[in-house]
Amino acid sequence: ASDATAAATVDGSALAGRALAAAGTRHMFGVVGIPVTSLASRAAAAGVRFLAFRNEQSAGYAAAAYGFLTGSPGVLLTVSGPGCVHGLAGLSHATANAWPLLMVSGSCNQADAGRGDFQELDQVAATKPFAKLVVKATTIADIPRLLFQALAAAVSGRPGGCYLDIPSDVLHQTLTESEAAALIAAAADSAASDPSPTKHKSLDEGVEKAADLLRRAERPLVVIGKGAAYARAEEAIRKLVDTTGIPFLPTPMGKGVVPDSHPLSATAARSLAIGQCDVALVVGARLNWLLHFGEPPKWSKDVKFILVDVCEEEIELRKPCVGIVGDAKRVIQLINREIKDNPFCLARSHPWVEAITKKANDNVLKMEAQLAKDVVPFNFMTPLRIIRDAILAEGSPAPVVVSEGANTMDVGRAVLVQNEPRTRLDAGTWGTMGVGLGYCIAAAVAEPERLVVAVEGDSGFGFSAMEVETLVRYQLPVVVIVFNNNGVYGGDRRSPDEITGPYKDDPAPTSFVPAAGYHKMMEAFGGKGYLVETPEELKSALSVSFRARKPAVINVIIDPYAGAESGRMQHKN
Ligand code: ADP
Repeated sequence: ASDATAAATVDGSALAGRALAAAGTRHMFGVVGIPVTSLASRAAAAGVRFLAFRNEQSAGYAAAAYGFLTGSPGVLLTVSGPGCVHGLAGLSHATANAWPLLMVSGSCNQADAGRGDFQELDQVAATKPFAKLVVKATTIADIPRLLFQALAAAVSGRPGGCYLDIPSDVLHQTLTESEAAALIAAAADSAASDPSPTKHKSLDEGVEKAADLLRRAERPLVVIGKGAAYARAEEAIRKLVDTTGIPFLPTPMGKGVVPDSHPLSATAARSLAIGQCDVALVVGARLNWLLHFGEPPKWSKDVKFILVDVCEEEIELRKPCVGIVGDAKRVIQLINREIKDNPFCLARSHPWVEAITKKANDNVLKMEAQLAKDVVPFNFMTPLRIIRDAILAEGSPAPVVVSEGANTMDVGRAVLVQNEPRTRLDAGTWGTMGVGLGYCIAAAVAEPERLVVAVEGDSGFGFSAMEVETLVRYQLPVVVIVFNNNGVYGGDRRSPDEITGPYKDDPAPTSFVPAAGYHKMMEAFGGKGYLVETPEELKSALSVSFRARKPAVINVIIDPYAGAESGRMQHKN
């Protein structure tokens, strides 16, 4: 090699950036600072778009949602110490939701660790409880291999968060161009030669049993979780529902895998469906609190569960009648094939199907009667109806709907319609508030052909409201609708006997400044802000902002006495 090519010109930051690009990473979310500023620009130079946030927490939520939407790990970049701690929010949220994420953090100088270095923290220990895999590069040559390994681990088995630590001294080490290229090539090779996951013995037997149970069931139900959405199982599940006539019930983020408008949707008859089904095929959903642990009184005590999950421990934990470990798309395709050989189909006049559709139709009619009224000052229903109709009018590709808040999310889940998979993002398994703006940014870059519409409570919005600046900076097509009811659950709801003591004149812990001008925060950065209090004002703001496909905040004033404390979770507060 000539002198020029033999010079050690590639530092750890450049090597990490190139390795990320070589691994297929297209976006990275984070906040720069010591020691990772150069890593962000090197990665961008190598073709990885860096989305610079105002706080690592939002960047982490963005990376988590990106993993769900794309099936590739969302990459989060954080600075050492406090930046890493803020990043734990996204890392833990991804793992809790079974979404793939790779957090890469700079850390303090290895030689100075233990004696009070700048932003020193044992980040390996700090990230361990929240990650599937934690690795640390102790020398520059480790970087490509560990990056490829952590990216692969994030998507293997049950997806989740992984962590790569790169100390600042390692980021500053150098090697030659040819050494860098060889290390990246070797890392890519070993990742490509990883043996594909072994086929589980139980698969064929499980598929046969599942088809048989479904065929003999009197009241079967398909439950669709966000794991099925993640697995892109929509075609297979749609086919299963259509050929067998079995009603289906999506979890909140399973909505859209089969369109909400499908006649066999049991969403509006949820209690009846889970309370009376005798066989439930649960695809990519955990029988956790969201599904009442699969137990009475919500479920019948005799219900037989068929669980399809990529994670063997999940199946061992729940002890279903039939457990099938495998990818949701693949397993449902196999079940479809099994059924094709010996087909069956519940007629629409089948008592079970009729019971579900009748109950669902009745409930929909009741809700529509509520929705039809124009209530001013706004309750939750009236603006949600107007927003639903505006979103439906967009047609296909449908907007991604981001939803958080107590009442805003609960009522929104019932009113807003998802007809395409992976078009709903909400607080998820952990009920995490503050995810909305990060989700919006991730959705806008992951799905550039879709509009992004966030429907947020004022409290949820406030967690990360500064990211409206990020929306404007990147000119993302995101419309954030804030349901402003003066606070958490609607401001001050204390009874007089709660308002005593030396701080009785303080605002209630649940209240915010009344009629806050959230739309002006967006205007401060050059985006569009709208303040709306009537149906006409809301319709006009939606129509203009949807058409513009530019960052906007619509501040919707809601009657503070509308809605319930803790939304529908009052029993837990
Ligand atoms: P929901 O909140 O919609 O009920 P959960 O997050 O509780 O969904 O469950 C999702 C489940 O999907 C997890 O148990 C996860 O292991 C599983 N999963 C993830 N990817 C796949 C896949 N490709 N195939 C099948 N199951 C999957």
